[in-house]
Amino acid sequence: MKEFEVIIVGAGHAGIEAALSSARMGRRTACITLNLDRIGHLPCNCSIGGPAKGHLAREVDALGGQMGVTTDHTLTHIRKVGTGKGPAVQTVRAHVCKREYPLFMQRVMRDQPNLKLIEGSVETILASGGKVVAAQVKVGNEISEIKADAVVLTTGTFLNGLCHEGQKKTVAARQGDQAVFGLSAFLKDLGVSLRRFKTGTTPRIKLSTINTAQTELLASEEDAGALSFLHDRPMPRKPLLSCWQTRTSSATHELLKERLHESAMYSGQIEGVGPRYCPSIEDKIVRFAEKNSHPIFLEIEEWESESVYVQGFSTSLPAETQLLALQTIPGLENVEMLRPGYAVEYDMADPLQLTPTLMSKLLPGLFLAGQINGTSGYEEAAGQGIVAGINAARFARGETEVVFTRGSSFLGVMLDDLVTKGVEDPYRMLTARAEHRLLLRHDNADRRLTPTGREIGLCSEDRWARFSEKMERIERAMNVLESNFVSPAHEQVLQRLGFTPVKNRISLFELMKRPEVSLAEAVRLADAIGLRLHGSPDLKGTLQHSNAAALQHSADDALQNHVQEQIELAAKYDGYLQIQQRSADQTKKLDAMRIPLSFDYQAMKGLSYETIEKLSRIKPTTVGQASRVPGVRPSDIALLIGFLRGSRRFAPYTFGKRAS
Ligand SMILES: Cc1cc2nc3c(=O)[nH]c(=O)nc-3n(C[C@H](O)[C@H](O)[C@H](O)COP(=O)(O)OP(=O)(O)OC[C@H]3O[C@@H](n4cnc5c(N)ncnc54)[C@H](O)[C@@H]3O)c2cc1C
Repeated sequence: MKEFEVIIVGAGHAGIEAALSSARMGRRTACITLNLDRIGHLPCNCSIGGPAKGHLAREVDALGGQMGVTTDHTLTHIRKVGTGKGPAVQTVRAHVCKREYPLFMQRVMRDQPNLKLIEGSVETILASGGKVVAAQVKVGNEISEIKADAVVLTTGTFLNGLCHEGQKKTVAARQGDQAVFGLSAFLKDLGVSLRRFKTGTTPRIKLSTINTAQTELLASEEDAGALSFLHDRPMPRKPLLSCWQTRTSSATHELLKERLHESAMYSGQIEGVGPRYCPSIEDKIVRFAEKNSHPIFLEIEEWESESVYVQGFSTSLPAETQLLALQTIPGLENVEMLRPGYAVEYDMADPLQLTPTLMSKLLPGLFLAGQINGTSGYEEAAGQGIVAGINAARFARGETEVVFTRGSSFLGVMLDDLVTKGVEDPYRMLTARAEHRLLLRHDNADRRLTPTGREIGLCSEDRWARFSEKMERIERAMNVLESNFVSPAHEQVLQRLGFTPVKNRISLFELMKRPEVSLAEAVRLADAIGLRLHGSPDLKGTLQHSNAAALQHSADDALQNHVQEQIELAAKYDGYLQIQQRSADQTKKLDAMRIPLSFDYQAMKGLSYETIEKLSRIKPTTVGQASRVPGVRPSDIALLIGFLRGSRRFAPYTFGKRAS
């Protein structure tokens, strides 16, 4: 028996989730990384969550992943975000302690059964018979082979990493970490198309040299809730911290414009393409020249340190210019810089050469996840990591793949975007990328994904018990609200309580679809007309309160708050949810129509040359994915369905055994 079934290369945010999911699914797993003390390192900001990124982190958690749990234990600050908009964009943004987060992850990884951590450098991947068979690893000066049935590459910014600070270049993956080269050569030989991407980070400044009186205080919100569905609330080690907001000034912009030529990015020194949605401060003053200031957030990085991250000021300017520019920002006039920002450029692999499970189309058993696929962000990496880890574990035992569709999750949106449209610059998740975002909310990721986590053996018993209790309580409350009615006979009471009369007999749940009728109002009305709402602790509880008018959110039952929130949202958005669900189901139908990777589009009459070229290059694995390839028309899809039906080729794709 092989010592390992799955090998994970790397222990950053993708590697951690991949290694833990494979091991938690019972596979003998090795995680090989360059430096065990850098497992879970956060090389850039200290934040987990925020618009769309928070949704991804919650989905990783809902499946049984680790990022949300570790964040709740190591956070220093948390706020709700998107609260001014509808429920589709609301989530939380936490800051974690950059010392404690990695230490927590290292403990979890060390204690994980079925998982062996190896400190070493993977030089290349070995294949035989058209499949992955081993990784060649250098430990100290010793080179050896470690066999496995599946390998997941999660090498982040390490492939050919080159750091830039002004004109200064350093061969490194990031500050404090060596770059690697062997794997780029392996990928190139395999036929993977590599490109150069770049990302940047900001200077760090000293807390005690900030004049916070000149800035706006952003306090933590104790009631923001937890990131993990396992917790009622976060468990910070100390009282949560604030952060501060300031803005660049015209003097900042003048100075940056004058010194633009010193920036590695603008001097043409960096060939890598930078993230459009995470621009450097140089990018901002050039691309948004009409704006006379940009927001800057000052975020404490660790409990016991003075290091402050200057969010919004990533740069590849020389250190002295960075300091001069910082000191033109209100509140930073006398600031001391602890270390300059810098940019890193690195090799990324074209995700169009991957299937929706992140397996390489060129080598079965080889998976890629994280920044190597052209994304940017801890959460994007973690999301890919858990999907690749799950599917590598399934591949290793010849089981069917687990595909996340666009209608099921932000994970599905990200994976489909990557493998269908590819990336022009580092991809970061945005709520606007999800066409079904009202279905894919922060609050219901567990309802969408925990059953899948359970089915594949990734969800722990206590997670399943907590989830099952919540589902059972939602169901009971819904049954009670749908089986108690208000009728025109109650007109007087309705009027007395300020409700518009009802024309015919409707359930309390129907009544709640009115914008002005909250769950508390519906319960108050039920109380007044003598309805006994038995059978649901989450409703009955309100009747025990002397004043049933206000649905008392009992602080000691966070679950009750979640149950009530689900019911309110289901009622208030019922119409929209049904429309989005129908559209998602339509997509899912097309996504169930498999196309074998070996399918020959040339054999199809009636397709334009351009369509044949695109589909032959991208090799979509389903009709749904083919329909989303830019430039493919509905008429092409109709032809494709007809042709595939004729050849009865909708065989489900089972790992290990390729669909003929
Ligand atoms: C300078 C910088 C700025 C950034 N700016 C932002 C930003 O502004 N916003 C944002 O959202 N994200 C930013 N990030 C990106 C963020 O850090 C990454 O998206 C995230 O860490 C990617 O996670 P990952 O798991 O893909 O890779 P990483 O976290 O980079 O982890 C890669 C892992 O692979 C291991 N490894 C690599 N090669 C080998 C090998 N041959 N053998 C064994 N192990 C190997 C490394 O040891 C490491 O553990 C930045 C990163 C850097 C370095």
